[in-house]
Amino acid sequence: MAKKRTIKRKKRGARPSRARIARVAKSVAAPRKKAKIVLWDLETTNLKGNYGYILCGATKLAGEKKIKCWSIADSSTFNDDPTNDKEICKAILESLEDADMWVAHFGKWFDRPMMNTRLLGHGLPPLPPIPLIDTWKIAKDNLRLNSNRLATIAAWAGLEEKTPLSGPIWIKAMAGHRPSIKYVIKHCKQDVVVLEQVYEKIKCLSTTHPNVNLVDGRENSCPICGEANLQKRGFQWARTRRYQRYQCQKCGGWSRASAAEKYPKMSIR
Ligand SMILES: [Zn+2]
Repeated sequence: MAKKRTIKRKKRGARPSRARIARVAKSVAAPRKKAKIVLWDLETTNLKGNYGYILCGATKLAGEKKIKCWSIADSSTFNDDPTNDKEICKAILESLEDADMWVAHFGKWFDRPMMNTRLLGHGLPPLPPIPLIDTWKIAKDNLRLNSNRLATIAAWAGLEEKTPLSGPIWIKAMAGHRPSIKYVIKHCKQDVVVLEQVYEKIKCLSTTHPNVNLVDGRENSCPICGEANLQKRGFQWARTRRYQRYQCQKCGGWSRASAAEKYPKMSIR
């Protein structure tokens, strides 16, 4: 008997290994990783990837000022072939694959498939399957505007205007005219700025927004913006159970508990 107790005590009091202590200490000390939300936009010479190429692309990390932009005129191949977008495709891919989630306007139907068409056409690997938050889709499903174009949403929300882009400038840019390409770059950069403002304005309406808290491991926070200030606001009812419903006091977005409440079990549905 005595021998058995000794073994038990030894097991309970077993010290964690040095490696485990170091691992835990490191994870506690490490700063929390914030979700990297990358906003992006492409300007292309055609709406189809086998008939056009990318003139320029811009990416911006949400919450940061810096905008990264690549234009075809920066390519080393531009003087020999002003239609070769392989180098900028590579650069845009590198900037995008680092993200936890993306934001693009109509990106599910244009920017993402366009980018993949150009990448594969050049024999490059495709974009990684990163969750894409589409501001066009949020507007289409949740707002009632005369159009769901980025400029229309921005005007309705009283946000910054997009820079106008006239036909003659487009035609010249497509022909490789450097000053016109510069103008297209300016337009593209401005687009991601407006895109971020529109995203901030309407993200609270999204019901499919990826949970930003999964990235930094934060609990009891708004899945859309990560704010810890949630207010209990009634219940979300399913057919046989109910879930605590919350509203974020920062972005206004709604969420619910992932587990159902303890509630009289419905045996019939
Ligand atoms: Zn929020």
